[in-house]
Amino acid sequence: MKKILIYTTVLTIFLSFISCNTGNETESEKKQETKTEQKKDCKDVHWSHHSGEDGPENWKNLCEGFSDCGGRFQSPVNIITDSIAENSNLAAITFNYGDSKVNIINNSHTVQFNISGENNITINNRKYKLLQFHFHTSSEHTVNGNYFPAEVHFVHQSEDGNYAVIAAFYEEGEENELFKMYMKYFPTAEGEYTSEDKFDILSLLPENKSYYYYKGSLTTPPCSETVSWYILKNNLSASKEQLEEFAKILDNNFRPIQKLNGRKIEEYTE
Ligand SMILES: [Zn+2]
Repeated sequence: MKKILIYTTVLTIFLSFISCNTGNETESEKKQETKTEQKKDCKDVHWSHHSGEDGPENWKNLCEGFSDCGGRFQSPVNIITDSIAENSNLAAITFNYGDSKVNIINNSHTVQFNISGENNITINNRKYKLLQFHFHTSSEHTVNGNYFPAEVHFVHQSEDGNYAVIAAFYEEGEENELFKMYMKYFPTAEGEYTSEDKFDILSLLPENKSYYYYKGSLTTPPCSETVSWYILKNNLSASKEQLEEFAKILDNNFRPIQKLNGRKIEEYTE
């Protein structure tokens, strides 16, 4: 019975946090309370990427539903390219992306493009629907200890509620077309921009989709450990000016590196 209760609680939390970056944001008057007594309900709990009472090191203590943030299989992680494990079962990701209308939100944790229409990927016969993509500056994952200026997360969910996130890093280089088109509309505080314009989703990812793979978590509360991570080896580019402008909007919205705790990172090469 207790187990059922726990499962129900976890399910409820899933339903209220459909991405690693959704979440209600209100000024927490109850910060004091979290110090002494853990809240049961996570609904209006304030959390932040910056160190402090509501920062990443304390997410697990903010409310019961965030306890996974203290779990053993968390994200992001450092990818050490010399110790990648072979896995011949990994396969190419099949992309079934079309166009989406423009709906850009700033939810105070990230800038996010919500996706309209049926767009999905298939990996090993399992289908995941694309819900949204959003950004972090600097990157969250690192490669051999090195950060990139930015990282994008394409968040997909299967019918049974598991996530597949495709991540790609940005490096300084040529101007980025998406940023060129829409950065002027990125809400700099909580807010939204919509337009009837459509954009081609697949054009936002690098052509070669070789990836690193591991099992981890959402990188923001509730940090659920239900994410298959596909981190593209080939980078996207954006100009120095674009990356600087975006970094000002996102203000270091990356979680510190988490321990692998015995997990292996694997790879698939196209
Ligand atoms: Zn993310």
